Amino acid sequence: MFYTSTRDKALKITSAEAVTKGISEEGGLFVPCEIPAVSADFIESMKNDTYKERAKKIMALYLTDFTREEISDFVEGAYSGGKFSSDEIAPVVNLHDNVNILELWHGPTCAFKDMALQLLPHLLIGSSKKTLKDKEIVILVATSGDTGKAALEGFCNVDSTKILVFYPNDGVSPMQKRQMCTQEGDNVGVCAINGNFDDAQTGVKSIFTDSEIKKVFEKNNLVFSSANSINWGRLLPQIVYYFSAYCDMLKQGKIKMGDKINIVVPTGNFGNILAANYAMKMGLPVNRLICASNANNVLTDFINTGKYDKNREFYTTISPSMDILISSNLERLIFSLYEGDDEAVRELYKSLKETGRFEVSKEVLEKIDSVYSAGCCDDAATKATIKEIYENYNYLCDTHTAVGIKVCSDYMAKTGDNTPVVIASTASPYKFCASVLSAVSPEEKETDEFKLLTKLEEKTGVSAPAQLKGLKDKAERFNKVCEKDVDSMRKVVFDMLGIK
Ligand SMILES: *Cc1c(COP(=O)(O)O)cnc(C)c1O
Repeated sequence: MFYTSTRDKALKITSAEAVTKGISEEGGLFVPCEIPAVSADFIESMKNDTYKERAKKIMALYLTDFTREEISDFVEGAYSGGKFSSDEIAPVVNLHDNVNILELWHGPTCAFKDMALQLLPHLLIGSSKKTLKDKEIVILVATSGDTGKAALEGFCNVDSTKILVFYPNDGVSPMQKRQMCTQEGDNVGVCAINGNFDDAQTGVKSIFTDSEIKKVFEKNNLVFSSANSINWGRLLPQIVYYFSAYCDMLKQGKIKMGDKINIVVPTGNFGNILAANYAMKMGLPVNRLICASNANNVLTDFINTGKYDKNREFYTTISPSMDILISSNLERLIFSLYEGDDEAVRELYKSLKETGRFEVSKEVLEKIDSVYSAGCCDDAATKATIKEIYENYNYLCDTHTAVGIKVCSDYMAKTGDNTPVVIASTASPYKFCASVLSAVSPEEKETDEFKLLTKLEEKTGVSAPAQLKGLKDKAERFNKVCEKDVDSMRKVVFDMLGIK
């Protein structure tokens, strides 16, 4: 199995190279040259497997340059040792009738990004052994909250790596800030910047290509890598849980082998829903993929009209991990819809860069229409959904998941489609205590994050994850704030690496 770039089809590299490089030099994203097909028997044979066994089987289809032992080590390293609070890793729970929730937040940081970021370090080290020999890897991350903590936790004390996270000083929730600033590990660093997420992202990108840093890195046997969601190593582990959910539903007797399911995903960068699309292309019986957005509904409009247009107001919402106007992973879908026409992708993305918009052809829009539905909801509807789901089904969900649930019920009401459905639940409600508590108890006035957490527990009887509760008593290790210019950020990088 080889990988190519969405902007240069002539390229042909191994999975190890795709993972270590992260992004292709001409700016394209790495995609598999062909999608491995699985049979109904293959899916059924995983019915009684554990999550880890399913992961090994699915990932082996894509990582053909690794041995079974290597893949097994990656999976064991990621999902063993009590790092996930549920043995099932990603359990499917029934909400009501044929509506099911796939809980992806039982990992160490209580958001779905753990599913991939617990595995990525192992895959990256394994890949760099094949491609970079014995260089030390420096991971730089710009985060709006969840990615930073999940990456820190994933790379914490992993040999031959160092990780440094930049976050916007006023752009993350108090719980997210506390999670990052108390991070343990000898190879980690965290720094706030005086700027917003875009400033952090722009700064990190310019450091990646900074010529002064490049020279210093070569001299010190260091190399940069990225843990953000365009890395193929982030996408691959996410394909697994859609198969796993299907197998669990088979096991629970909710469906028979071959029955189609709908999948709803609350979306930001289009990574999580794209993983479901890969599963479907491999042969997972899927009827429709339903893309759910908050008020930043650039993807809803794209799926409904074929026009992608980021020239619109940006909203700060109570589902902040989906406050995104440039959904990077969409490029992989576009490449596949244009059947690997890299020239078409280059033109569309040139237009996006120059004008902030592009429009796909009529044929491509029809293809999108045959698989995808899309919807969005605002903060008021998100809160009303949290309250309704809690009151009707005694299930407490977070703000991102609520967007998925709301868009799902709108879709079902509008179409009458009663196909069994799986809604991806992307975070623990306790990660967004203030919004969730104010949804279930609108009269609440408390503002202290940990008092909110206790109140939410008291009110609902649902206990908070120990790793969030425990943050209250953890010592803060990182309190540095730097300016958003490259010189200041470069100095932070050098300081952390002990380079003068
Ligand atoms: C990152 C994130 C999302 C969005 O996932 P994408 O892969 O970017 O679509 C949704 N919910 C939560 C809680 C997240 O952290």
